[in-house]
Amino acid sequence: ADRNPNDADELVHRREQHFASVQEHYYRHPPRIERGWQHTMIDVDARCYLDMVNNVTSLGHAHPGVERAAARQLRRLNTNSRFNYGAVVEYSTRLSELLPALLDTVFLVNSGSEAVDLALRIALATTGRPDVLAVAEAYHGWTFASDAVSTSIADNPNALETRPDWVHTVDAPNAYRGRYRGPDVGRYADDAVETIHRLAAEGRPPAAFIAEAYYGNAGGMALPDGYLDKVYAAVREHGGLAIADEVQVGYGRLGEWFWGFEQQGVVPDIVTVAKAIGNGHPLGAVITSREVAERYRNQGYFFSSAGGSPVSSAVGLAVLDALRDEKLQQNARDVGRHLKERLTQLAERHELIGAVHGSGLYLGVELVRDRETREPATRETTAICERMLELGVIIQPTGDRQCVLKTKPPLCLDRESADYFVDALDHVLSTGY
Ligand code: PMP
Repeated sequence: ADRNPNDADELVHRREQHFASVQEHYYRHPPRIERGWQHTMIDVDARCYLDMVNNVTSLGHAHPGVERAAARQLRRLNTNSRFNYGAVVEYSTRLSELLPALLDTVFLVNSGSEAVDLALRIALATTGRPDVLAVAEAYHGWTFASDAVSTSIADNPNALETRPDWVHTVDAPNAYRGRYRGPDVGRYADDAVETIHRLAAEGRPPAAFIAEAYYGNAGGMALPDGYLDKVYAAVREHGGLAIADEVQVGYGRLGEWFWGFEQQGVVPDIVTVAKAIGNGHPLGAVITSREVAERYRNQGYFFSSAGGSPVSSAVGLAVLDALRDEKLQQNARDVGRHLKERLTQLAERHELIGAVHGSGLYLGVELVRDRETREPATRETTAICERMLELGVIIQPTGDRQCVLKTKPPLCLDRESADYFVDALDHVLSTGY
């Protein structure tokens, strides 16, 4: 028979032959996606899917403002940041203005992994120390240093055993299923502080503490109140730096806060950001104080050929314009609140929903077999995602136990689509999967 040029399964087969990815695709039969528009993905048969997972394409797919900015700049000039052109200056200025005044110096790179790697290099070089403290069950990237502090076993089952000895970890501060719950959640910070003091006493005070400022990898959970305040204070007491990884949770997605660290009422020494800032175009940034950046200038090296290129800067500026003009943070807050309310109501009728985590349009629906033991409903989560796909909704599992529906759609999501997602989930939970 003739080969169908649009066959989705055949494409999966060919993908496996020459495309190096160690991450499984999520579905038995992934649709062959051809285009996107706002929070919709469209396959080769013109079937539409409500996209509930794309936090990278944060403004929405095929955003005209981004498309115009990139096309215009590609026609004019694209080169590296050694040259003196306006876009990189304007973009760095706009980016730093989004942060507390002290964080005024921007390094532009091409991804979240690069941003985390550079943040760690800055911390190691400027403190002259080899050790770093990270949080368990975290993901920070694939490059050498960002992989070293990635402790999640969902991506790499050997993550903890294969850590280099300069990486130290503290417990995942997971108030839902971690060691401490309810009134005890403050103890995560106490334990972390104790670890920092112990490392210092052993002559290995950490160069940095790195963590997501809002616990994204667990499905979008606020860290316990006061957690970062206490841990940052302890790491600084011993001369280390506080790194907030905002690659997933920052940039307006949380609705109430533009940055995750605002939720904790702290100011980090170094912030890493990527994903949403380029709306899918490769773009990442490290933002720190002039003082730290100056120290790094004397002790380390940084240059990125494509980081902050005219096209990347133009895209970055177009994303910021769209976020402002389309009031997407406010939309994340309002639609996110409605969505969380509806999901919470759904939990009253379906035992399987153990909790609804998160804020704005970074939500996590955690599925459990038993609300007391919180046994993860991992297999069920996969089956539910498959059924949801049949109903035209793209939703996928996250977390070390792969039992959380990671709910982080483009920020343009409207109420009707949020309702459709909840109704589809209700239908699947009611009729079987
Ligand atoms: N940090 C966090 C918190 C992330 O979630 C990710 C990506 N999932 C990264 C860093 C790495 O970003 P990238 O994939 O752009 O390299």
